[in-house]
Amino acid sequence: MLGPPGVGKGTQAERIASEFGIAHISTGDMFREAVAAGTELGKTAREYMAAGALVPDEIVVGMVEERLGRDDTRKGFLLDGFPRTIAQAEALERLLQTLGRPVTAVVDLRADEELLITRLSGRRVCASCGATYHVQNKPPKQDGVCDVCGGEVRQREDDRPEAIRERLREYAAKTAALTEHYSRLELLESIDASGTPEEVFGLVSEALIRRAGVGTHQVAG
Ligand code: ADP
Ligand code: ZN
Repeated sequence: MLGPPGVGKGTQAERIASEFGIAHISTGDMFREAVAAGTELGKTAREYMAAGALVPDEIVVGMVEERLGRDDTRKGFLLDGFPRTIAQAEALERLLQTLGRPVTAVVDLRADEELLITRLSGRRVCASCGATYHVQNKPPKQDGVCDVCGGEVRQREDDRPEAIRERLREYAAKTAALTEHYSRLELLESIDASGTPEEVFGLVSEALIRRAGVGTHQVAG
């Protein structure tokens, strides 16, 4: 699943993976977990993430390779936030070739930059369970407190204005080229992600079912 920061990739990826019974692999979540756990990987990743920069390709590719070796990917998997550069896409192609598992589809979520900035700058996240909120569209019932678990709701370090600007710049400079790449491979499904999460989910599942040629719970790849 491709798309600029703030387009709703994480939300859609989680829902799609759960409805289709496949593994959700989010490199952003994996890095955030490593940061929270204070591992070496986390320490390295944090410097890049806090600045809104991309983590170097070798680090990301190694992490994904290891993740794809786990059992829960057998019925299929959805990559969220990876690949993000042409070099990562090429590494992924080699990896999937070795595993004998071709890509079924590449979903590209699209929205205007203005909407992305509004979504990102208002986003708040529970530090304990990861539930997401938005100051205008979906505030927690009690200010700063998670509805789900009572944890602390705060702004992600990279959702500050300077970091948001840098993430959008990185996207335009390095990730936008992937749509052209996958369009050439005839794998691309461009989806308008400006609607409600429910509407976008409908559009994405429709595209995936059409691509995979099978129904929910039978999708592989
Ligand atoms: P978003 O798509 O909203 O920017 P993510 O949660 O996908 O957020 O990623 C957060 C940060 O994690 C990125 O800004 C980047 O620093 C790092 N990251 C995640 N995936 C990758 C990747 N494939 N390559 C390089 N850096 C990555
Ligand atoms: Zn919570």
